[in-house]
Amino acid sequence: TDQAAAAARATPMIAQYIEIKSANADCLLFYRMGDFYELFFDDAETASRALGIMLTKRGKHLGEDIPMCGVPVERANDYLQKLIALGHRVAVCEQIEDPAEARKRGPKSVVKRDVVRLVTPGTITEDALLDPARANAFAAVARVRDAKGAWRYGVASVDISTGAFTVVQCAENELSSTLARFEPREIVAAESLCREEALATLFVNLGAPVAPLGREAGDAPRRLMDFFGVATLEGFGALGEAEIAAAATAILYVERTQKGSRPALARPMSLRESATLEIDAATRANLELLRTLSGAREGSLLSVVDLTATSAGARLLGERLAAPSTDPALIAARLDAVTFFLERSEIRAALRAKLSRAPDLARAVSRLALQRGGPRDVASVGAALAAARDIADLFARAESPAKIARDVARLAGADAGLAQEIARSLKDSAPLDKRNGDFVREGRDAELDEARALRDESRIVIASLQAGYAEATGTKLKIKHNNFLGFFLEVPAAQGEKLLRDETFTHRQTMADAMRFSTRELADLQSRIASAADRALARELAIFDALSAAILAGADELQALAQAFARLDVLGALAEVAEKRSWTRPSVDHSLDFAIVAGRHPVVEASLQAQGKAFAANDCDLTGEKAGRIAVVTGPNMAGKSTFLRQNALIALLAQAGSYVPAAEARIGVVDRLFSRVGASDDLARGRSTFMVEMVETAAILNGATQRSLVILDEIGRGTATFDGLSIAWATIEHLHEINRARAIFATHFHELTQLTKRMARLVNLTMKVTDHAGEVVFLHEVVKGAADRSYGVHVAQLAGLPASVVARAHAILAELEAADRRAPVEALIDDLPLFKHVVEAAQSRDALRETLARIDPDQLSPREALAALYELKGKA
Ligand code: ADP
Repeated sequence: TDQAAAAARATPMIAQYIEIKSANADCLLFYRMGDFYELFFDDAETASRALGIMLTKRGKHLGEDIPMCGVPVERANDYLQKLIALGHRVAVCEQIEDPAEARKRGPKSVVKRDVVRLVTPGTITEDALLDPARANAFAAVARVRDAKGAWRYGVASVDISTGAFTVVQCAENELSSTLARFEPREIVAAESLCREEALATLFVNLGAPVAPLGREAGDAPRRLMDFFGVATLEGFGALGEAEIAAAATAILYVERTQKGSRPALARPMSLRESATLEIDAATRANLELLRTLSGAREGSLLSVVDLTATSAGARLLGERLAAPSTDPALIAARLDAVTFFLERSEIRAALRAKLSRAPDLARAVSRLALQRGGPRDVASVGAALAAARDIADLFARAESPAKIARDVARLAGADAGLAQEIARSLKDSAPLDKRNGDFVREGRDAELDEARALRDESRIVIASLQAGYAEATGTKLKIKHNNFLGFFLEVPAAQGEKLLRDETFTHRQTMADAMRFSTRELADLQSRIASAADRALARELAIFDALSAAILAGADELQALAQAFARLDVLGALAEVAEKRSWTRPSVDHSLDFAIVAGRHPVVEASLQAQGKAFAANDCDLTGEKAGRIAVVTGPNMAGKSTFLRQNALIALLAQAGSYVPAAEARIGVVDRLFSRVGASDDLARGRSTFMVEMVETAAILNGATQRSLVILDEIGRGTATFDGLSIAWATIEHLHEINRARAIFATHFHELTQLTKRMARLVNLTMKVTDHAGEVVFLHEVVKGAADRSYGVHVAQLAGLPASVVARAHAILAELEAADRRAPVEALIDDLPLFKHVVEAAQSRDALRETLARIDPDQLSPREALAALYELKGKA
């Protein structure tokens, strides 16, 4: 092949580079050379642009300069973080032998190198690269045919940083919302799937980079059994064929990226039975659940609700908001737990204080499993085990509801022996890295203590040796150390002669101003120190390995413990929000009701509060006799329509996530699917061809909404010409009312739609109350029954500062339009209206002035004539 031919003509190093790069073509290759990771060719150009680092050259290949750039190994994490944030994958290629070995093979041979791991957005584990408050999962997608020959999709979500492993299967039309729920940082699928246009588009719309796998998972059950070291999958609960295929694909990717290391993954758990509220990607984005439309966490629902004390709790809360339940019993159980924490604020406060000091257990265990952990991770496990029992004690005398009692029991059972062993072994502030030792406590291991003593004593002996030699020779000699000579004596050059004549001293080096010697005594001490230090480090590492092994033997138990911490944190935090923001407990049942009294928008309210302003609470009743009601909301821009729409969606979502809600009362018949759409012109943030997107999304609602669904439509149809838009909006309401029969709120500026209540029984008109105060428009943000006054647009024009004459004229035109036959074509209406008179007159008078001015030649005028001209001009103004 071309590559082979090119490699044949390259230097040995470049040949090695090309070979490794071609095996990792979809990654940037970090090629280790000494203290740097170097990038070459196209990679160098990509990385230098992405990282803003200098592009240089190194040698030639096929007659061309080789572009190169490099990052220091010490700071590699910073650069990796940037590259990953941009969606790149990086293959880290290390030297896997001592350069001395390579030299032995001959002067031209290169050090052996190999890729030891792939760093990709969905598989990172280092704290420095991770967002503590956000799960970091990749999603693997696989597909199988079911008994009827239709496609079933399996989705597996794996978070290597915590070991979480969940699977679910779905039909093709649910794939988008299923994937969106996991918020994957990366999507993995067989190359053949990634090439299908429909899937490729779906993946792109989710906004995560896609990693195509060259291989299929093959015998999926076998792969799973091998990974978990089991002989059958029966112990995993009932997994569907598509779920197994997806899980196997995920494992294939774990193996590909982690190379030799095996992460401590939990066994895949199927989410099929845990019924969750379905929310598609567009709705998630539009409701700004975890991030705002512009991608910030600040201003999202999560940012207001998240009062968790730990990162693991923050991650779990994000997951709960991303996947609320549809099971009223489960929701009630969670609400019972929140209520408990609300009432027992002293337990809550103690819990939160203890949790906030507990380390991130799940991520520490995962790093240890991947051999990437250090003493600090072991110490974290110890601290977490100790905290578990402390926390369990808080609940000793309380009668806690089922959800809490179960987790408390788990905490009470935490492995006290292991906790003690870790506390007994590690120094109080353990280092991140084990390589330099010095983390095991004194008194833990006799052999270690002895080796350390020897090492330290020898150091003292060396110091006294220096004094002895200096006195014996009468020189200013000093004992120094470097890597080349080890310990040596150094004297000023002028005094060197004395030592040269003495047999005790062996000459080693002559420098410009100094001479260097060694002695037998010094050499002996040197080797004793070195071997004592080596022995000490070896002991420390052995102790580390033993602790690490003990931890990993109980990894499943520890991950479960981490989950229990996180769940308690979430429940406590929800109580905290409920108290801080005066939220109430909702009731969620099997009815089709939707009755909110004095509801508020949690995020808008919080931001108004910060400015010292009050939020106007609004009721919303979509309870119909046999099917949901549809509310059509009209009102001027900025009156609060969007806020009203979204707050009701958010209240339903919070309630089903097991949270209290911002309302005085909330009764909600459990919602199965939540849809929210914004008309095209509000969708600028995504910068897509807008009207088409709007229609595709509306189609998804009309095809997917059921009687249990809640639909929020904001200004649908606004992305096109008036009559098109109106007709589409009209037909959409009819379909929702007659066919879907869902509960819905529809905000529109098409005033005509308010007429529909005459024909549709379950339609109600709502409007935003606007009032006039001393001639100014004031928005009360109050939702009332009825249709908006048609003149609201003109009110807003006035508010915007249009001249009073224009506003008055606009009122007159509006009155004409209203009086005219509404079905008459707009052109006819315009013909009937006389021209806008004062504008015409103003234009004409301005022209008369200009003409007069043009005729005046100041140089030819006498003072008298000039005065006359001024009077003339004044007369025409
Ligand atoms: P519309 O959709 O009608 O154009 P928005 O819902 O975007 O209006 O609201 C515009 C602004 O009005 C919001 O940013 C908020 O500051 C304020 N607002 C909206 N609803 C309320 C309310 N219920 N109480 C107080 N202020 C509100």
